[in-house]
Amino acid sequence: PIRAPPMPDLTQAAIPRGFRFVRQGAAMRLLGFSSGSLALAASLHATGSLGTWWPLLLATALGWPWLAWRLTEGKPAPLKLERRNLLVDGLIAGMWIGIIGLDLMPSAMLVSALVMDRTMIGGWRMMWATLLTILAACLVALLFTGFVIEPHTALVTMLWCLPFMALYPLALGALAHFSSDKVRAQNRLLEQVVRIDPETGLATRQQWLAAVAERLRRFHRHGAVSSMLMIDIDEFKKVNDTYGHLAGDEAIRQVSRQLHDGLRSVDLAGRYGGDEFGVLLPGTDGHAAMEVAERLRLRVANQVAVGGTPVTLSIGVAELRPGMEGIGDWAGAADEALYRAKAEGRNRVCSQDGEPVSVAG
Ligand code: GH3
Ligand code: MG
Repeated sequence: PIRAPPMPDLTQAAIPRGFRFVRQGAAMRLLGFSSGSLALAASLHATGSLGTWWPLLLATALGWPWLAWRLTEGKPAPLKLERRNLLVDGLIAGMWIGIIGLDLMPSAMLVSALVMDRTMIGGWRMMWATLLTILAACLVALLFTGFVIEPHTALVTMLWCLPFMALYPLALGALAHFSSDKVRAQNRLLEQVVRIDPETGLATRQQWLAAVAERLRRFHRHGAVSSMLMIDIDEFKKVNDTYGHLAGDEAIRQVSRQLHDGLRSVDLAGRYGGDEFGVLLPGTDGHAAMEVAERLRLRVANQVAVGGTPVTLSIGVAELRPGMEGIGDWAGAADEALYRAKAEGRNRVCSQDGEPVSVAG
């Protein structure tokens, strides 16, 4: 049987994600703009205009990343603000591409980095929006500089492109890798939520049926013996009606605990639905399964009570036999046995062959 892990709080997990995204965005912005500014400085130096532009360049390299962080950090809707920051990034990059007169290497470097980055964050839509932003800002800057276009890149400028070209893709790759790790971990968590019934810590119906299907395959391939118990709490409506639904829920939890504790680790108890449980007993024939069922019945009757009245179980037992082709055949046999246990007076175990193991006690 499996035990419920502490329930993950999925609502809580969603809150820091926005903040993490913003923090990572701020770090990438600082890295990108500061190392990218080296290439811009080299390009401006090559055309002799660094003297004019250096204050604006400094503001780009350090001022904007700092300002963007200050404007976003600790704000109530950081994701929306960060979207605006992403837009400004494109405007600034486009503006500089215009200012350096489309100096080919640094321009291509900035465009390709932004395109990669924005496609990762927002898909094609954001990629196109960024390209258009860059184009518009570039045209405005060119208007301002009088359309001075100098696409030839000096060797020194190429060298100063290298820090950005080495660092930015590396950081972006690492970010993508570690956030996909996080996605994988979250998927595992979700899978677990689907496998385990949160109320009782037993397997969910789907998970339990999957295990049943697996035993069925093994039986047909290797003839491996298995049995199944179908368990239903007796007169459970009365418990609800007399003591309320909360007491009923508590009884279901206690029965689940007894089932869990009374089984071997290879057995699998599942919540079939409502007050009904299934137990899969791999490697157990019908006769031994009857004993297991009887032990569970006694255990629950002795340990679980609501308002002083013992909670009792009816249990149907079915061994896997030739001719049972699907889950329906097997579970149907167990269900029929359970139905017979109910019909014969409840608080008892019945096998698929109709023999009761014990009489109410
Ligand atoms: P029987 O001996 O024939 O099984 O009688 P019963 O009253 O137990 O009848 P049945 O199994 O058909 O009905 C089970 C009832 O259990 C129906 C539903 O109101 C109640 N129930 C199902 N799930 C829950 C639950 O999670 N909590 C509580 N408190 N009640 C539940
Ligand atoms: Mg019932």
